[in-house]
Amino acid sequence: MPIHPAPYAPYIKPSGFFPTLRPLKIETNLTQLQQAELEKADENFYFKEFLAHYDSHHVDTLVHALNDTITPKIDCTACGNCCRSLMINVTQPEVEKLAGHLNMSADKVKEKYVETSLMGDMIINRIPCHFLSGNTCSIYEHRFNECRDFPGLHKTNFTSRLFATFMHYGRCPIIYNVIEQLKIEVGFTNQAT
Ligand code: SF4
Ligand code: SF4
Repeated sequence: MPIHPAPYAPYIKPSGFFPTLRPLKIETNLTQLQQAELEKADENFYFKEFLAHYDSHHVDTLVHALNDTITPKIDCTACGNCCRSLMINVTQPEVEKLAGHLNMSADKVKEKYVETSLMGDMIINRIPCHFLSGNTCSIYEHRFNECRDFPGLHKTNFTSRLFATFMHYGRCPIIYNVIEQLKIEVGFTNQAT
């Protein structure tokens, strides 16, 4: 992919700024998301470059506001795509908590549901996740921290996680819609065309 010289205007923080949230159609069709991921690969490459030059605190403010607005409009129980497609890391305390809930020993939980990754981490040994029932989590109250955190748009330092976040652009409707709206909020123009 060609690397263009940075064509970005210096960032000027507007005073009293709030996201304008021009009404975009919220896209939840996973086929459309996968298609957009292919079609917008170059555009998203440049958008990541654009964001890397932007004030990270201001990006956080925007992403948090967009996340707060968009997430309630998306029904995760009608999606479940993260649970169908992500590798989930777990910890020993989480295994023990789940073992208590399932009335099993921690060793039995590990034997049935956990394996060690090439990196030496404990991970759930099946994708889709064992505990996905339809589109919902059958151990919701006892789900793992990674599940609780995903898609992670409530965290600070969004610009330090661009690679990991954009990796899920075509998978998670929340991420897709926040990123598409963020392009509008920061005045990004597609450098790929
Ligand atoms: S534990 Fe529940 S929330 Fe986590 S991946 Fe499995 S089904 Fe999804
Ligand atoms: S977090 Fe994203 S991928 Fe997971 S169920 Fe919700 S919308 Fe779907």
